[in-house]
Amino acid sequence: GVRVRIAPSPTGEPHVGTAYIALFNYLFAKKHGGEFILRIEDTDATRSTPEFETKVLDALKWCGLEWKEGPDIGGPYGPYRQSDRKPMYQPYAQELLDKGHAFRCFCTPARLEQMREAQRAAGKPPKYDGLCLSLSAEEVTSRMAAGETTVIRMKIPAEGSCDFTDGVYGDVSIPWDSVDMQVLIKADGMPTYHMANVIDDHLMQITHVARGEEWLASVPKHILLYRYFGWDQPVFMHLSLMRNADKSKLSKRKNPTSISYYSALGYIPEALMNFLGLFFIQIAEGEELLTMDELSEKFDPDNLSKAGAIFDIQKLDWLNGRWIREKLSEEEFQARVLTWAMENDRLKEGLRLSQTRISKLGELPDLAGFLLKSDLGLQPSDFAKIKSPPEEILEILNTVQADLEKILEWNVETIEAELRAIADRMGKKLKVVVSPLFVAVSGSSRSLPLFDSMAILGRSVVRQRLKLAAQ
Ligand code: ATP
Ligand code: GLU
Repeated sequence: GVRVRIAPSPTGEPHVGTAYIALFNYLFAKKHGGEFILRIEDTDATRSTPEFETKVLDALKWCGLEWKEGPDIGGPYGPYRQSDRKPMYQPYAQELLDKGHAFRCFCTPARLEQMREAQRAAGKPPKYDGLCLSLSAEEVTSRMAAGETTVIRMKIPAEGSCDFTDGVYGDVSIPWDSVDMQVLIKADGMPTYHMANVIDDHLMQITHVARGEEWLASVPKHILLYRYFGWDQPVFMHLSLMRNADKSKLSKRKNPTSISYYSALGYIPEALMNFLGLFFIQIAEGEELLTMDELSEKFDPDNLSKAGAIFDIQKLDWLNGRWIREKLSEEEFQARVLTWAMENDRLKEGLRLSQTRISKLGELPDLAGFLLKSDLGLQPSDFAKIKSPPEEILEILNTVQADLEKILEWNVETIEAELRAIADRMGKKLKVVVSPLFVAVSGSSRSLPLFDSMAILGRSVVRQRLKLAAQ
């Protein structure tokens, strides 16, 4: 039977791109009576965090994309988190070494950097030059015995090309000399994405791999690994990335990309899935409003467009409005509003902070309303009361925005610490830095405490508010 997966890396706020790929896989499984599973790809230990993993699971659940097997519920092919599977990869690496499909590499980061520098200077794309390919077995043994740091790399054919048929792109041909001798096992013994991904897809009996087109160029490495191991390869389908109207890639530096941003603003999951699902079906005008079941009936993976998926926020707004007005009963609507207001303890936290600051309950909307608003409607005049000149305000808003990513765990303490560090670095008083932030985040210079407000609103909403304020 058909088995498909979503394999997110918990390295950031859950991305709408992940929901888009997950939805495709979910609908694909539904269409074929197959299974949709979830695997966490956290081989990049420096960037993966348990907090992001929880968030990605919560975000996909919020989308209504239920998986049959996963790290939270287990299943017959577990564990479903790659860091928990670490010991499983070693024998496969050994097999490749034994068969002569892989080799030990002792090149230091400094040497690799030098090599790449030279390649770049010569106008060539950086690629491992194969120095360690010629090491004798004795040399390898003695250098390992001496405790030298080593990685395992895969061998790549010297000539010819990797030809395959992609379910979306059709026939693809990639010359082997453009493919790098990929590291399979890192110095710390952890596999790289490519190694773990192929082994897990095989062991988890994945039949179809549908993912973002940024992985198309990696297919030769993956196909080669399937061949080296003597395994059947899955069907590959590379979906076009979501783009802005100007064709640029949807990316967190340009637009809000996190699922939690859309839920915080009050988009409802059915509307978001409806919106993303329209990229996978052909329908006539007037037939856009579709439930998950209707999407899966109309879903046609053979009829996708290569033109790309344009993330048209106006269309999402329009669909969300139609869902609210036409699809939800009065009771459902009320229940949704309450759930939404309660999300992430937003209302509870807002009330906790407000209690010591009001004398009448009716002051609440003015004081704490910004926690629920989708749009603060800021005007340049809102910043007039701040003592800093406009250039300084702009500098502060931009600096803080660029640094939000550095806050790994998002809470009151870490936010405060980072803002203090920013103030220090900029050589400014904390008060000078927080004044414009107050306005940008809450819409007013007198409201709830800033660090708490930022914590409640969440990283992605804060980022977008700073961006809008800086415009
Ligand atoms: P950045 O925002 O820095 O450009 P990114 O958008 O690539 O980074 P990642 O955190 O690297 O974000 O990606 C998270 C997941 O979202 C990946 O699985 C990726 O395939 C998917 N993704 C990212 N951008 C898009 C996009 N524009 N369309 C579809 N999927 C995307
Ligand atoms: N962990 C990869 C990602 O997040 C998965 C890519 C794949 O599906 O193979 O993009």
